[in-house]
Amino acid sequence: MNAQPPASHHIAGAYVEDDAGAVIESTYPATGELNARLHSATPAIIARAVEAAKAAQPAWAALKGVERGRILLRTAQILRERNEEISRIETLDTGKAIQETLVADAASAADALEYFGGLAGAITGEHIDLGGDFVYTRREALGVCAGIGAWNYPVQIAAWKSAPALACGNAFIFKPSEMTPLTALMLAEAFADAGLPAGIFSVVQGYGDVGEALASHPDIAKVSLTGSVPTGAKVLAAAAPTIKAVTMELGGKSPILVFDDADLESAIGGAMLGNFYSTGQICSNGTRVFVQRGVYDRFLSRLKTRTEAIRIGDPLDPDTHLGPMVSVAQRDKVMGYIEAGKREGARLLTGGGVPELQGFEKGAWIRPTVFADVTDDMTIAREEIFGPVMSVLAFDDEDEAVARANATEFGLAAGVFTADLSRAHRVVSQLQAGTTWINAYNLTPVEAPFGGVKQSGIGRENGHAAIEHYTHLKSVYVATGPVESPY
Ligand code: NAD
Repeated sequence: MNAQPPASHHIAGAYVEDDAGAVIESTYPATGELNARLHSATPAIIARAVEAAKAAQPAWAALKGVERGRILLRTAQILRERNEEISRIETLDTGKAIQETLVADAASAADALEYFGGLAGAITGEHIDLGGDFVYTRREALGVCAGIGAWNYPVQIAAWKSAPALACGNAFIFKPSEMTPLTALMLAEAFADAGLPAGIFSVVQGYGDVGEALASHPDIAKVSLTGSVPTGAKVLAAAAPTIKAVTMELGGKSPILVFDDADLESAIGGAMLGNFYSTGQICSNGTRVFVQRGVYDRFLSRLKTRTEAIRIGDPLDPDTHLGPMVSVAQRDKVMGYIEAGKREGARLLTGGGVPELQGFEKGAWIRPTVFADVTDDMTIAREEIFGPVMSVLAFDDEDEAVARANATEFGLAAGVFTADLSRAHRVVSQLQAGTTWINAYNLTPVEAPFGGVKQSGIGRENGHAAIEHYTHLKSVYVATGPVESPY
């Protein structure tokens, strides 16, 4: 399973090594085999990336937007050409089934580069007429920005953060999760091959301490994190002394509301996608599925049948639906939640254990799991599990469902399944979440803003909204007559 990159870091357009840094090992979660051994960034490596970014950023910001955009579009093209190669490495690094990585990782990264590459020439301010004098505004780059990634969508996260940052004229330093260090380097190669000036995009590897060094660095203007709520709190604290701009894409415990009149097969399909895709390791997963009493039993019966038909196994087999989790430690954590569900009285409808797969005995496997008759106070209904564990809860009426859906400190996402359009819009307007769906779940096109409210985050990725988070607005007052002064 050799997937060893030429070196650990990619700075100023080239691979760089410093083997004084702590060892980072990427392993294939399906077998436990070693993919690659890398090193965490030393202070010297971080300094090198920051210096390269500082040196290159002013000239990059001074280019016309369309010129920056052209390089982003070329990078997207390269990612699409290399999709199979990147997807294979993404599968080795994360364990996600190749069926998924071929369509949802480098392809989604390319979408972001195309979208923001296209927008780069259209980033404008406004003109404010004052009846003679006037003000105009300029959207200016922030400078050097940093990104810190989670392990579930490594190359996608790197691109969702860097594409808008670069389109706006910033330089970007990305630290992947130490669990999945490989594909961000492939994005850096694609940028370099597309002609991105050296220093504008760099990748430095590392554990939390490297993330903290970036978040607290005085020469870095902004930090964007994808990670858990506790890490979000630490990154905010590290960013506070230098008053950095922040984007926080954090965890969730999102609700899906299924009303009696819903198209049941679609609702079940949405709930399954919203719990099992990427082996349940998606921040916006709808892990609390509230089903109205009239369809509750039918929902559960079809859900059980369809869940048990999921093909789990060799992630590199294109017919496989579900690979392992990212690590045995994460799997064991999820098994702990499954035990808590049983202990606290939830009814295990299906799954709940580790499958035996010949040739993959050391993998981080877990069966897709559904608990029925879950109540709001159970641990599995309150805490983010970040694995393929769905909780189904019964409800009677709309107001009750909305109140229970909102009774959480999280607010990332929410979904509503109903044939009644008035109700769909009424309910969605009351749900406390940043990203919502009506009769769909977990679709995240780059055109749509994505992010959370409450403890699930600050700021938005994707859509026009991302431009606001990678620029500041300068207002310019222009006088058209003499200065009137009493002095
Ligand atoms: P994590 O919080 O453990 O780590 C995220 C990143 O932060 C890693 O790169 C890690 O090295 C770094 N980090 C850890 N401590 C740090 C510190 N003190 N300072 C700076 N950086 C630090 O998260 P994870 O386990 O990699 O990912 C799972 C979590 O991410 C889940 O909670 C999930 O919901 C969330 N997530 C959110 C989104 C979103 O867009 N909202 C997307 C994917 C994952």
